Amino acid sequence: MNLPAALLNILLCLASLLPLAALADAYEAKLPDELNTAPKLCDYAPCAEVLPGATSFSERKGQPFYVEGYADDDNGGDDKDDEKGDDKDHGNDGNGKKRKVGYVMLSTDITDTPAYSGKPVVTLIGMDTKGRFVGVKVLKHSEPILLLGIPESALIRFNEQYLGKFVGSNIEIGQSRPDEDIIGLDAISGATVTVIAQNQVMMTSGTAVARQVGILKPTIREQAEFIESGARPDWATLVKEGSVQRLTVTPEQVGLARGGAPFIDLWFGYLNQPDVGRAILGDGPWRRLVADLKDGEHALFVIRTGGAESFKGSGFVRGGIYDRVQVRQGSDAFTFRDLDYANLYGIAAPGAPRFTESAIFIIRSNSFSGAYPWKFVFLGNRVDRATGARSFTSFDSEYWLPEAYLEGGRPEVVKPDAPWVRVWKTRAVEIALFAALLVAVGTVYALRDKLTRRATRKNKWPVNIFKYSAWVVSIGFVGFGLLAQPSITQVLTWFHALLFQWTWELFLTDPFIFLFWIFIIVTVFVWGRGLFCGWLCPFGSLSELLYKVGGAVGLKRYQFQLPRKWHNRLKWVKYGVFFGLLAVSFFSMGLAEKLAEVEPFKTTFLVGLFNRSWPYTLFAAGLLGLSIFIERPFCKYLCPLGASLAMPSTFRWFGLKRKQECDSCKACAVGCGSQAIDEDGRIDHRECLHCLDCMVLYTDDHACPPLAQERKRRTKAGLPLTPIGTDGYYIPIKLVPASRAKAA
Ligand code: SF4
Ligand code: SF4
Repeated sequence: MNLPAALLNILLCLASLLPLAALADAYEAKLPDELNTAPKLCDYAPCAEVLPGATSFSERKGQPFYVEGYADDDNGGDDKDDEKGDDKDHGNDGNGKKRKVGYVMLSTDITDTPAYSGKPVVTLIGMDTKGRFVGVKVLKHSEPILLLGIPESALIRFNEQYLGKFVGSNIEIGQSRPDEDIIGLDAISGATVTVIAQNQVMMTSGTAVARQVGILKPTIREQAEFIESGARPDWATLVKEGSVQRLTVTPEQVGLARGGAPFIDLWFGYLNQPDVGRAILGDGPWRRLVADLKDGEHALFVIRTGGAESFKGSGFVRGGIYDRVQVRQGSDAFTFRDLDYANLYGIAAPGAPRFTESAIFIIRSNSFSGAYPWKFVFLGNRVDRATGARSFTSFDSEYWLPEAYLEGGRPEVVKPDAPWVRVWKTRAVEIALFAALLVAVGTVYALRDKLTRRATRKNKWPVNIFKYSAWVVSIGFVGFGLLAQPSITQVLTWFHALLFQWTWELFLTDPFIFLFWIFIIVTVFVWGRGLFCGWLCPFGSLSELLYKVGGAVGLKRYQFQLPRKWHNRLKWVKYGVFFGLLAVSFFSMGLAEKLAEVEPFKTTFLVGLFNRSWPYTLFAAGLLGLSIFIERPFCKYLCPLGASLAMPSTFRWFGLKRKQECDSCKACAVGCGSQAIDEDGRIDHRECLHCLDCMVLYTDDHACPPLAQERKRRTKAGLPLTPIGTDGYYIPIKLVPASRAKAA
């Protein structure tokens, strides 16, 4: 077997070992379907592990769901305070008294907050009867970063910080700030997005259950005072002014095939406001409704105008609760029992749409106020297309009564920042530095003509000083510092998001990757992939830097290029890898993510070469070692990300310059480390990494053969050497008539 074939074989063998080592404990763990649906949650989840002392558990109860955990009365269990609880705190299984010791909740029963991967971290949480977290267990996560080497134990250690903390405390990632009553948690370095999402999951889940069971007092909100104008707006006006809102769930949002019709299309509004209530119900029905409402009771209407899904739920039974809909205001959730329901027979407002299901729901709590914004929530089951697993998902739409209907207008509401906003705020300095780096590199490249003219084949420093600086910064600051190595998994995620469901939050949660991709997309279409690959990709930069250092320390004689014939064949392998990953991702994103380990990026930057199991270390170290002898072997032959960027590079706006003579002169091709210049002198912009060596030659009148020839000719003939024009030739000498020259 000759050398190139052997080389390819080694790389492919190493790559094939990777999936074997990919699985970590909870990464994409296969959970039983019943976990999300069975009344007896604890038959399918290790509840006892998160609620120490509990020996038995109730069925799922409440809305959102939780279970109660009991200890045998003689079993110690929790503190004595629990014993003063009422009789409801005691269960009896027929064998003696049981004492309630706390609650267990499955995070995905309560919130579907996505983490870095865009999927929730499925967490089982235990809380004692005093509202202190007593156990946390991650059942499943899809965080590549935790698969890859920030070890899962880091997440376990992070979760342990909650133990003993009260659910009503202000718990945030970062430093504690006692003056502001904030308890800080240590983040996991390199997994900030994951832990911010995890904190939200913990606090949202804990408070949702703590409020239901009375550990946390409900917020009392000031009740609204309404302005009554006597107007009777029609439906279009109500919708336009925001008194009636819409919540539409599409089939793809619940994992079904995209279709023309919505999965469910709902309209809803607040009826206590007299003008709105009368417009919707008509005078008489509204008066009768309001007469039945007590202080602190609120009515809202819901109609379904599209979709076949029932918002009342097909499983609704008398005395039960409507488990498909909910109202949320701040961290309070309001659910509806059968007694909180009234029939809605028609909408009085002219122009109202035809509906196929309707209801009036009553909120019986002065925690709710019509003056503040609230959300109408539809709770659905989402089917994961890849695995077929069902998971809980909520869809909501915000409602805030228009200012004109409220005495004194809308109260001021400070909304907490979305998780991605918090990430951008906490990392503002690094983000600014990173953005400055991107702008600087883009600017330097835009001014490349000025630099290449100053450089010569013998002295390329005017260009290289910028390029090498970019490499060093991208390896140290971008790669090892910010862990911002773009990856093919992001391309696959975007592809799927474009096809199925685009959510900006998903992409905004990692500001560096987000900004990097804006840069990549823009520069690929303007100049081709070379600016990113050749100047800023952390792994590519490391690979080429090793090659340069290898040459500088005396290994030059061992450095070689693959023969053109082999290069021309092997360069297609990376496209095969890319399309292979894309195809697999349609069947299983999880498998595609594991196979994407063909990129050694995570091993190199996120985890560290020696922090992983040996196949990964061997693969990444092998590639880096090979880079000392062959310039960028991974970039040229294997990188699926490079392949995905190479294809659109075909349509770049600006290419590199060529002269007529380039067709026959091979001088540039000899020096092109990327082997991007073919036998006919043409540059393949899919392979070119913008090293600019050929552009230096283009204006070097000692190195570019046609220019050198012309230089010699002019020197011999005693003609002046005019500057070199943008076409790469000496500017022609203009002959001035002798009479004009004399006059001058
Ligand atoms: S080919 Fe891949 S590793 Fe190489 S520079 Fe481009 S993206 Fe980076
Ligand atoms: S020598 Fe020219 S063609 Fe080759 S990689 Fe550098 S810029 Fe691209």
